[in-house]
Amino acid sequence: MQKLLVATGNAHKTEEIRAMLGAGYEVTDLKSHPELPKVDETGTTFLENATLKAVEISREVPGLILSDDSGLEVDALGGAPGVYSARYAGEDGNDEANNAKLLTELADVEERRARFRCVMVLAENGETLAHFDGAVEGRIITERLGDGGFGYDPLFVPEGHEQSFAELGDEVKNTLSHRARAMEKVCRWLADRNS
Ligand code: IMP
Repeated sequence: MQKLLVATGNAHKTEEIRAMLGAGYEVTDLKSHPELPKVDETGTTFLENATLKAVEISREVPGLILSDDSGLEVDALGGAPGVYSARYAGEDGNDEANNAKLLTELADVEERRARFRCVMVLAENGETLAHFDGAVEGRIITERLGDGGFGYDPLFVPEGHEQSFAELGDEVKNTLSHRARAMEKVCRWLADRNS
């Protein structure tokens, strides 16, 4: 079984990635490496932050490292919260406060088009091997619906659906999310490398 360390402490991201990689991979994340320093996300793009996370961790831990930098872009907010999605309502990365802020910012706004974006980087021994991206279009609804997922999932309805990601649940989310679309490319790359 091939080992892969996901450079995140977000258990929801790890669970989604583990489910999408399937049985051939032994997936761990930074929760198994409390000794590692926290990587500061000082970049201004998803790619910069994903690269920082993957490359810095790969200098410390041998083997394959996968990072995920992702976020929500809302058209009516000029693309915010974007790369600052986790910190939208403050540095502590509180999902509940972030969702409350988003609803306040969009109060009385009719044009609610938005998308999730995800950039993933694979790295080994301090070097980037490849990077991948994925996006899913949708809209922000006016109240939280559902209790699955994490982050902005209760407020995001993907195009072609009537329920939020939090209502649709991980099985459906993992077929169409920004992360699923990036992971399809990761899986293809890994399969090619191993062939
Ligand atoms: P990161 O850890 O810096 O990549 O921040 C990601 C943030 O974007 C999360 O804390 C969420 O607020 C948001 N986000 C990213 N992916 C998702 C998702 O799949 N569902 C809901 N929110 C997400």
